[in-house]
Amino acid sequence: MTAMQHVSLGAHYVVHLPTPDDFAFWRERARQLIQCDVPPDRVSWVEPGGTGDLFAQEGPSRGERRLPLPEKSARQVRASKRFMKLARNAALHSDPERFGLLYRVLWRLQSKPRCMEDKADADVRRVEELDKSVRRDSHKMHAFVRFREVTDETGAEHYVAWFEPDHHIVRANAGFFMRRFANMNWSILTPRGCLHWDGTTMRESGPARREDAPGGDPVEALWKSYYSSIFNPARLKVGAMLAEMPKKYWKNMPESELIPELIAGAQAREAGMVAAGAREDRKLPSSVDAIAQGIGACRDCPIAECSTRAVMGEGALGARLMIVGEQPGDQEDEQGKPFVGPAGQLLDEYLTKVGIARSQAYVTNAVKHFKFTWKGKRRLHQSPTAKEIDACRWWLEAERSVVKPRVVLALGASAARGLLGKTVSIARARGTPMPLEDGSELWVTAHPSYLLRLDGEARAEQAAKFESDLEAVRARLTQIAGC
Ligand code: SF4
Repeated sequence: MTAMQHVSLGAHYVVHLPTPDDFAFWRERARQLIQCDVPPDRVSWVEPGGTGDLFAQEGPSRGERRLPLPEKSARQVRASKRFMKLARNAALHSDPERFGLLYRVLWRLQSKPRCMEDKADADVRRVEELDKSVRRDSHKMHAFVRFREVTDETGAEHYVAWFEPDHHIVRANAGFFMRRFANMNWSILTPRGCLHWDGTTMRESGPARREDAPGGDPVEALWKSYYSSIFNPARLKVGAMLAEMPKKYWKNMPESELIPELIAGAQAREAGMVAAGAREDRKLPSSVDAIAQGIGACRDCPIAECSTRAVMGEGALGARLMIVGEQPGDQEDEQGKPFVGPAGQLLDEYLTKVGIARSQAYVTNAVKHFKFTWKGKRRLHQSPTAKEIDACRWWLEAERSVVKPRVVLALGASAARGLLGKTVSIARARGTPMPLEDGSELWVTAHPSYLLRLDGEARAEQAAKFESDLEAVRARLTQIAGC
């Protein structure tokens, strides 16, 4: 029987899923069944090789029939956004009952659109559990996959990892590894199927055995450096460590020898996590150290996963002027300091020109981690999205509440969004201060990196505007100082 065949036993339907993780297939069939008013107790969902396929042997002899086709005018199927979000993950769980469970909840949503909010609904709770378990498994895959370098038959470098997921998450996580290791040739082998990336194309293959993966030393230097940057101090607690990092992953983990060093810095990092956790309660960290530790531990947007470190602002506390850029660049990421690259040097030049001492200002960025894309061996700046800027606003707000500047100068549209929470046009916003909710005032100008991208007359014109904006800020600071 092919994956597309369905067996009807009288009024009972059996749906065979082509693969255990095919949520789109389930969704289509579920919609069709709901539109034909087929209740959950008249449908069985069977995955390939799955248990519970009670009819697989007997199906043909009992007569095959395709699923009923809905009328053209069939009613719309209701599914809340929350249900769809959870269901997508829950469908990847290894529980053989998951597709039936999802269909039951989808069925209930038709007459009870708010049932996902019903805390007493056991099916809804179970969907939440499955979602959580799958997210946790994906997290472990992101954290514990370890590549080993091998040479393939053509003599080219290839990186191979072995991983044992609890659920059907391999295909769903292909994009994550493709983005992170875009320039490497790699394979991830698992007992639930394998992924292979050659720099341009992703291929899949069937399940592998542990013996198929190479032994030998992993690429330790690369991984040690990477994992020390994402080390979670909670792992120092044995209970939490076992829960977070089950023993089955330990044998593949070269960084275990880093633990003494990491323990030394763990207290500070743990404090950072507390600061990051405080975000849930909307309590702004109350010191520069707490913010620095918080951003070091923050993973609220995907940028942190690639950059070397979070870059904290620096400067005088109580400074009248706070200067906000977009995000750290390559050199800032390397050195852990804001505005030390070419744009920072140009900024310094203009600040000196108009008579603003950078040492008297506090300089920071709207986004604390470096977002980039690889071009060969170079890391090229990529602009943060509005969502990423908004995710990082909280930290900028925390810095403002600690530094308490009177004047805030936003360099570029990303910085302005980080301060205002909305996008503004630099051309329209420059030259006129805007009040911020804490009583300070916001001035907006271009980012110096914009000037660096121009030349000739265009650069001269923009440089004059930039200087004039800084002049206006300096005049305002003088006025405030005189009050
Ligand atoms: Fe957190 Fe900001 Fe870094 Fe994103 S860029 S992870 S929000 S500190």
